[in-house]
Amino acid sequence: MSKLLIGGRWVDGESTDRLFDKFGGRSFGEMAVASLEQVDEAVAGTHAAVASSKLGPYERYRVLSEAARLLENRFDRLISLMRDEVGFTRADGENEVRRCIQTLELSAEEAKRLNGELIPMTAAAGSADRIGYTIRKPRGVVCAITPFNSPLNVVAHKVAPALAGGNSVVVKPSEHTPLSAVELCKLLIDAGLPPEMLALVHGPGQAIGKRLLADQRIAFYAFTGSTRVGREIQSAAGLRGTQLELGSIASTIVCSDADIGRAIPKIMNAAFRKAGQVCTSVQKLFVDRRIAAKFTPAFVDAVRSLKVGDPADPSVVIGPMISQASAERAARWVDEAVSAGARVLVGGTHDGALFMPTVLDRVSADMRVVCEEIFAPVVCIIEFDQLSEAVAQANATPFGLAAGLFTSNISTALRTAPALRFGGVHINEASSARVDVMPFGGVKESGFGREGPAYAVREMTEERLITVSY
Ligand code: NAD
Repeated sequence: MSKLLIGGRWVDGESTDRLFDKFGGRSFGEMAVASLEQVDEAVAGTHAAVASSKLGPYERYRVLSEAARLLENRFDRLISLMRDEVGFTRADGENEVRRCIQTLELSAEEAKRLNGELIPMTAAAGSADRIGYTIRKPRGVVCAITPFNSPLNVVAHKVAPALAGGNSVVVKPSEHTPLSAVELCKLLIDAGLPPEMLALVHGPGQAIGKRLLADQRIAFYAFTGSTRVGREIQSAAGLRGTQLELGSIASTIVCSDADIGRAIPKIMNAAFRKAGQVCTSVQKLFVDRRIAAKFTPAFVDAVRSLKVGDPADPSVVIGPMISQASAERAARWVDEAVSAGARVLVGGTHDGALFMPTVLDRVSADMRVVCEEIFAPVVCIIEFDQLSEAVAQANATPFGLAAGLFTSNISTALRTAPALRFGGVHINEASSARVDVMPFGGVKESGFGREGPAYAVREMTEERLITVSY
């Protein structure tokens, strides 16, 4: 049974929701749902705590690095939890926990490194007898609202840099995956974080999330989720700070001179891990027509070999999607595309929440599988004659989070990368080649602000200037 963390204590909510595992539908736990008054109390508690906090940079470093160490000992427990909670295979779960350890470690380092700069005052005429420097201060209460598809590491990407910067945090995880966030909060408290610096509230976004948006004691919203909800957050935030990591349609381009043997496993991993529910999953795969006859059958054969099923089975590579309804929605989009002329090269069907890894070709730009975010294990192959066409079509989306480009020609790589309007472009990697040390975030409707502890901690702190005349 999960509880809520309010005012430094674990408490019951006003009701409970049962949680069911995503593969077999077995009930494995309960989520305490907060009342609106409890949301207010959670904010009040963190607001008071940050004002009186004595936690200096070194103590913040100690807490975050200790949390990373403790997580290493809770590896297997977290993997089983995420198998039930979100349908992760062992590989998906290991990746999530390893990355979370890294996010905590990187954030711990940032707590010690956070500094301002010396301003060259004497460079301005008339200010010879003045010095100036900046300092960074916590913003206050940071509110983290997070999605289902990375229930541990995305929460860590908000909470850990916020704490590193000296803030207190209110977390509202996805109502589909609340328990991984509970584990992260327990870990931080076990690592020595004064519990009143952190609050955790569960419940539906429309009620609990909205209540958090209205609370003016919150200084900053760190959000990952859909562009639709991102817009609501931005409009409620007004002049308060936000970091919005939103929707995406990611592209990967395979040039005629690409090393196909290297590209295929990377593209497969990027397209199908976590059942394709990754914001940087390859949705549009551009393949140079001159190599399509070689590339496409090899890719499709490799996809056919992926085992789909029970995430507890170590030979399974693709577990269930978050719900049967999500799989049904993706299947509808595939069926619509097929009726409009697309061809299914492999997959295209689902069994409950299990969605077969799917590759389509003969797609057109107006099909939903191409022009809307599918968030499922579905790849659309689009052949091209000129690289400039592929770049233009990759850019032809309201989103701009990540893209990949495979080529063995350095000039092609360096010339093409800046023409791709995405927050991150990865050469000889697929679109989802993320490492947590990177600045990570989008352009256009994929949002703004950057994750990656070194970048996030700066957004979650205020830069202030001090000058001294002498
Ligand atoms: P979602 O937008 O439905 O929900 C995200 C969170 O917002 C949840 O905690 C939800 O309860 C909350 N929420 C919903 N309505 C709200 C409201 N009115 N006010 C406040 N909070 C509200 O997203 P999801 O389905 O959980 O996740 C999938 C989406 O997340 C995809 O669009 C995906 O691209 C995106 N995503 C983006 C990134 C990135 O880094 N850009 C990473 C992961 C996921």
